[in-house]
Amino acid sequence: MTSIGFVGLGNMGGPMAANLAKAGHDVRVFDLVPELVAGVEGASGASSAADAASGVDVFVSMLPAGRHVEGLYLGENGVAGHLGSDTLVIDCSTIDPATSRKVASALADKGIDMLDAPVSGGTAGAQGGTLTFIVGGPEAALERGRPFFEIMGANIYHAGDHGAGQIAKVCNNMLLAICMAGTAEALALGVDNGLDPAVLSEIMKQSSGGNWCLNVYNPYPGVQEGSAASRGYEGGFLTDLMVKDLGLAMETALGSGNAVPMGGLARSLFQAHGSANGAGRLDFSSIQKLYSPDLDG
Ligand code: NAD
Repeated sequence: MTSIGFVGLGNMGGPMAANLAKAGHDVRVFDLVPELVAGVEGASGASSAADAASGVDVFVSMLPAGRHVEGLYLGENGVAGHLGSDTLVIDCSTIDPATSRKVASALADKGIDMLDAPVSGGTAGAQGGTLTFIVGGPEAALERGRPFFEIMGANIYHAGDHGAGQIAKVCNNMLLAICMAGTAEALALGVDNGLDPAVLSEIMKQSSGGNWCLNVYNPYPGVQEGSAASRGYEGGFLTDLMVKDLGLAMETALGSGNAVPMGGLARSLFQAHGSANGAGRLDFSSIQKLYSPDLDG
């Protein structure tokens, strides 16, 4: 049994921490929202992030953005001052590579190994323990983390050194945003021309337009049982978080001088959608409402 500290118990972190506890590890959890701390089955609640970090073998964070991660580790009373030098740190948040490298370097100065390990697979993957981990950092540290990745996920990729996991994740999410907006656009076009969205989805799934959004994350309400679209776009992967990730893609592209016209357009679409009708707190597949404004969902 390994002692694990886990901070950030939102849509993703809560079920990931629960899976570690279910596998028999001693998991100590913390979030700024007290109800979330009490809600992780099999885990014990910590009184602060520092408390969750003290004396553990492995420390995992799953926070929204870079500023939260930097604050958690390096801010006032940051956990960097409470982690033991033999603790393995795994940050699963999707954040900018520069912050990820900065935190890894500050921890390395204390002899602490850190991995950036953003995930793909959504809340269903977090609940089912089938996430894909995209890992940046030394190979040896990845091997130390492997048993825990295998509990929370099904696929583990080593993208390269510190920050590489974040770059791969940003590329993936830029493509996901483009696919989701394109899928919603095609579905709206079909429905507005008299097609049933379920029939059209099935046709496109089996045709050359088939993609992950159609297969497992259909944005049209009522087409796929259990999808965010079929529960009023509640929970899931928030539009605000997708806008954040597209901003990271734009920053990365500026840094390397890449033209990303499709990504730029997707960022504008999700930004406009998020600013309207409180859609920022809805699942990102609610972009369907931008194309199909009469939808109830
Ligand atoms: P979320 O907003 O549901 O959860 C984040 C949690 O972090 C919240 O409960 C918040 O209270 C907590 N938090 C913030 N600052 C904190 C601090 N200083 N100390 C303790 N707790 C703090 O977000 P989520 O959907 O769980 O996403 C987390 C990360 O995973 C994001 O970077 C997101 O981009 C990424 N991600 C999300 C999904 C998804 O489908 N939701 C999929 C892949 C990756």
